[in-house]
Amino acid sequence: MNKFRIGFGYDVHQLKEGYDFWLGGIKLEHEKGAVGHSDADVLIHVICDALLGAANLRDIGYHFSDQDPKFKGIDSKILLSEVMLLIREAGFEVGNLDTTICLQLPKVNPHIPTMKTCLAEVMNISENDISIKATTTEKLGFVGRQEGVSAYCTALIYSV
Ligand SMILES: [Zn+2]
Repeated sequence: MNKFRIGFGYDVHQLKEGYDFWLGGIKLEHEKGAVGHSDADVLIHVICDALLGAANLRDIGYHFSDQDPKFKGIDSKILLSEVMLLIREAGFEVGNLDTTICLQLPKVNPHIPTMKTCLAEVMNISENDISIKATTTEKLGFVGRQEGVSAYCTALIYSV
């Protein structure tokens, strides 16, 4: 019998002028970008954390330390492909992911199909198993003030 496990991920990055804005594996055109040790792709980070959590393999910072210069500015798609290796080495395959991005501006919805295609390729899973949702926070809080971006992910994995 397959064993099913779920995981959850949450992450925040600050938004500042003069930084690239990587989100869901693609670069968005915006006057602000996300600040972080890696490329600060908040959506990929929550996917990594949800998958690692589901497999009880700690978290993204445990595997890819923000103190380690080798991860400075790294493309988070590389981290995601490493996480997929860990998940598959542990005997699991991905069932599906459901994610929510909290961002005031720019609008995420037009970019969702491209993000899904990109992530499906990195993870080697079906686009149909990746859900990406977007919400503003009605101009409230750090997201509403355009000071940051946050994201959530739930992941289901199963033993193969
Ligand atoms: Zn992050």
